[in-house]
Amino acid sequence: MEGRKYNIAIIGGGILGVSIGYFLALFSKSSVVIIEQERDVAYHTSSRNTGKVHAPFLYDPKEKKLFAKIALIGFEMWKKYSDLKGIQFKNDGVIEVATEDEQIDTLKKYVNWGIKNGLEEKDIIFLDHKQTHQIEPNISCKASILCKKDASVDYHLLTKSLKKDYSDAGGHFMFSHKVKRIISNSHHPITISFQNQNEETIHADYLINASGGNSLEIAHSMGIGRDLINLYFRGEYWIAPQEYETVTSHSIYSVPRQKKYPFLDPHWIIKFDGHCEIGPNAVPVFGAYAYNLTNNFTEVMPKIKNLMIKHGFWSLLLDREFLSLVSTEINSSFSKKSMINRVKRFLPLLDPNKFTKRGLSGIRSVIINNQGNIIPETILLKDAASLNILNYNSPGATGGLPMAAMIVYDLIKDGFAQRKNDKEDLSGNENSNLWNIEEIYSRIKY
Ligand SMILES: Cc1cc2nc3c(=O)[nH]c(=O)nc-3n(C[C@H](O)[C@H](O)[C@H](O)COP(=O)(O)OP(=O)(O)OC[C@H]3O[C@@H](n4cnc5c(N)ncnc54)[C@H](O)[C@@H]3O)c2cc1C
Repeated sequence: MEGRKYNIAIIGGGILGVSIGYFLALFSKSSVVIIEQERDVAYHTSSRNTGKVHAPFLYDPKEKKLFAKIALIGFEMWKKYSDLKGIQFKNDGVIEVATEDEQIDTLKKYVNWGIKNGLEEKDIIFLDHKQTHQIEPNISCKASILCKKDASVDYHLLTKSLKKDYSDAGGHFMFSHKVKRIISNSHHPITISFQNQNEETIHADYLINASGGNSLEIAHSMGIGRDLINLYFRGEYWIAPQEYETVTSHSIYSVPRQKKYPFLDPHWIIKFDGHCEIGPNAVPVFGAYAYNLTNNFTEVMPKIKNLMIKHGFWSLLLDREFLSLVSTEINSSFSKKSMINRVKRFLPLLDPNKFTKRGLSGIRSVIINNQGNIIPETILLKDAASLNILNYNSPGATGGLPMAAMIVYDLIKDGFAQRKNDKEDLSGNENSNLWNIEEIYSRIKY
C-alpha cells in the first residue's frame, strides 16, 4: 500500500518529540508527522518523572554542558509557556543537603557549577547548619544549598498542551503505530513500516528519532551507534501520607553518595499539587517499559543475549562501585524501609510504616560506551537523512523546549526544514510570537 509522504517524521510522542513538532509547526513550512506507539502523548518517561524544573547546579559545566544550558533556559521557557496557557508553574526552590562533613566541599562545588552554568549569585546560596535549621527546622544536616530557581510542574499536562498547539498549527499524529522498520537510501525518501499494521507504510525526507528508551534500538536498526549499549534503571517512588505534607517547605535533595554514577539518592519531593513523595531509586531492569515484574521478564531474554556480546557491559560488571550501587538499589526496591531510611537520614521524623502507597515508577535509559563508561551527556547522532537523540535523560523534561528549539533551528539552517517567512512567522499565533528561536539557538550553542 503506497503511504503518505511527509517532509519530516518524528518517532516518539514524549515531551521531546512533541516539543520538536511544536517548533517545526510554528516556524517551518514542512509537513510533519509524529509517530507514537501508544494512544496518546507523554505515555512513558515524560509522565513518569519527579516533575521538577531542575536548576543547573548539579551538572559539571565541562561534562554536561548541553544539559546545563537547556536546564537554565528551560526554566524561563516553561515559565513563559505556563503563564501563557494558565498552567501551574510552582517556583518553589530546592534545598540540597550534606549529611556528612566531607560532603560540604561538594556543596561548594555545586554552587560554583551553578554560577558557571548561568545561575545568579542571589539564586544559589550556601547555608551552614544553623541557617538551614532556620529555614527547615525538621531537616538534619551539616550544611546545605538553597536554590531558588527550581520549580515543580506537571510535564504530562504541559506535553498535552503542546500537542494541541502543534495540531492547531497543522501538525499530524499517528497514534498506536509502533515503528518496525526504517528503510533509508540516499536517493529516495525514507520508508517507515509499522508493527501490526499489515502493509501500511509512510515516507519522509527526514527522520527524527526521539523515541526515548527505544532510541538506541531504532538507531541500531539503521546501522547507527552500533558501539553503544543501553542499560535501564527503574526509578521507584513512595507517596507520603497527608500528615507529612507540611514537614518541609522545600523539596530536599542530598549529595549523592555514589559520585561516579549519575544517579542521585532518593529525594524528599514536594510535587506541583502539594503532595509529597520519596524517590526515585535506580533499580537495574531489562527494558524501557519494565515497570513491573511481568514486563521485566518479557524483556530479559532478548536484552541479555544482546548485552552478553558487548565488551562494555562486562567492564561495567567488574566495577566494584557499580556493583555496590546495584546492590543498594535492588535492596531499596524490595524493602520499603530501606528506601525510606535513605531519606530519613536527613528527615528523621519519617516513619516508614506510615508509607502505604507506591508512586508511579519511571525508567531511565542510560547509554554506556565500549569501555563500560556511562556517557554523561545527551548524544546527537546524524546521518544524511536522520537525527537520533540518545541518552536524553534528566534534566530532559526541563530541557524539552530549548532542546527542541535548537534542533529545529539547526534543521532550518541545514536546509532540512523550510522556514516560514517573517510575515508567516508572526502570523498572530500567540505561540510563535512567544519565541525567538535564533536567540535560543545561540544561547545554547555559544
Ligand atoms: C525516574 C525519573 C525521574 C525524572 N525526573 C525528572 C525531573 O524531575 N525533571 C526533568 O527535567 N527530567 C526528569 N527525568 C527525565 C525526563 O523525564 C526525560 O528526560 C524525558 O521525559 C524524556 O523525554 P522523551 O520524549 O525523550 O522520552 P519519552 O517520554 O520516553 O518518549 C518517547 C516516546 O517514544 C515512543 N516510542 C518508543 N519506541 C517507539 C516506536 N518503535 N514506535 C513509535 N513510538 C515509539 C514511546 O512510546 C514514548 O512515548 C526523569 C526521568 C526518570 C526516569
